[in-house]
Amino acid sequence: MHEFSFAYNIFKVAEATAMKYNAKKITQVYIEIGELTLIVPHLLQQSFKMATTGSIAEGAELKIEIVPGKIRCRDCGKESTVSLSEEAQLTGLQLFQCRHCESKNTEIISGKNATVKNIKIQE
Ligand SMILES: [Zn+2]
Repeated sequence: MHEFSFAYNIFKVAEATAMKYNAKKITQVYIEIGELTLIVPHLLQQSFKMATTGSIAEGAELKIEIVPGKIRCRDCGKESTVSLSEEAQLTGLQLFQCRHCESKNTEIISGKNATVKNIKIQE
């Protein structure tokens, strides 16, 4: 499951940070997810609960911020903000068109990552 491996990685990052500060408990994890990861937030919430059960992050709140995707055009060199069309979500196909010259010769430069921005801990 796509979401579970993401949730597990998020947990590992949060846990490593918490251990550095000798925390007893993680109470909140704040993450940013690129829109192009195809992550479904409520599935990520469920997976996070599963991944943290029995750990110091059990019961921690997962705050999710979605950041838009960005592409760079290989033809005109300009950047565009993109979001997934419904079609792309259904097929998993990601073809993005440059907003400036309509070329499809583009590369994704952001929106495919999940980043842990902040965690709250109890010492
Ligand atoms: Zn272009």
